[in-house]
Amino acid sequence: MLNHFIAAGQISPALVRSALNATVMKHNFLIYYALLKAISNYRLWKWKTKLVSDFPIIRLPTPYAACYLARGRDGYAIIDTDIPYSAEFILSALRIIDIRPKDIKAILLTHGHRDHAGSAEELRHATGAPIAIHFGDLGIIKNRQESIPQIIGGFSQIRRHFLKLFSAFLPFRPFDPDIDLRTNQNLDHFLNTPIRIIETPGHTSGSISFLMNSAHIFIGDLGKFRRGSFVPNHYLENEKLLEDSVQEIFSLGTLSVYPGHGNPGIIQKPNGHNVQSSLGQNNDIYT
Ligand SMILES: [Zn+2]
Repeated sequence: MLNHFIAAGQISPALVRSALNATVMKHNFLIYYALLKAISNYRLWKWKTKLVSDFPIIRLPTPYAACYLARGRDGYAIIDTDIPYSAEFILSALRIIDIRPKDIKAILLTHGHRDHAGSAEELRHATGAPIAIHFGDLGIIKNRQESIPQIIGGFSQIRRHFLKLFSAFLPFRPFDPDIDLRTNQNLDHFLNTPIRIIETPGHTSGSISFLMNSAHIFIGDLGKFRRGSFVPNHYLENEKLLEDSVQEIFSLGTLSVYPGHGNPGIIQKPNGHNVQSSLGQNNDIYT
C-alpha cells in the first residue's frame, strides 16, 4: 500500500524516512528519560538520607557523572551538569537544602563532553547563572564536533563502540556558553572566593580544572581514584598532554581532588613522593 502511494508520487521516500526517523528518535528519548528518572530519583532519595546543613562542597545526586555544588563567600557554583535532562534533579536537590536558583552564580564546565555539559543550558535557564567553559572545547558544545577519544587498555575497540552508542543515545542540543575561559583566568568575582583555572588538556583539548581556595580542585575527566590511588583517564585525545596535565596537578601540593567520575580523594607530596588516597565510598559532603 505504502509502495503504491510512493509510486504514485503522493509520498516521497524522503518523507517516509524522516517520519520513521522521528518515531525512532521519540522512542529512544522516552526510554532515555524513563531510565534517567528512575536512577535520579533513587540517587536523590539516597542523598537525602545523609545530608548535613553546612558544607563547603557537596556532590549532587546526579544520575551519571559526578557534579558538585561549591559554596563561596557570596553564593554557589555548580561544577559540571551531567547528561541532558538532569537539571530537574539538580534543582530538586537544591530545594531540599534551601538553595534558591538565584543563589547559583556560575555554571563551570570542566570540558565539553555531553555527560558533563549535557544539562548546562537547562540549568542556565533555571538559575540565570552564566556558563563558563574553556575555548578549546567550544566546537564540541556549539557544533557537536566531538571526536570519540582513543581508549587505552583491554577491549578498547569494544569500549570505543559502546561509547559511540552511548554518546549517540544522549539527546544533546548544542548551545552557546557565556564565558570562554583561558588559563590562569581569575574567577574570584563569581563567588567572591578564589577560583583559578588550570589548563589540563589531554582528555579533550579544552579540558580544565578549577582550583578553589588553593585547596580543592575539580578535575573533570583527567582521571579518577581507584583502590586509593589516582589513575589517569584511559579515554583520551592526547596521551602525552594528559600525562603532563596529571603532573601539573601533582605539582600543586596537597589538594582535595574532585573527579568527574567516582569518589574524591587527596593527593599530597611529602618527601618528593606522591601519596594519593580516595575519600571513601558513601560520603557526599566534603569539608
Ligand atoms: Zn569526558
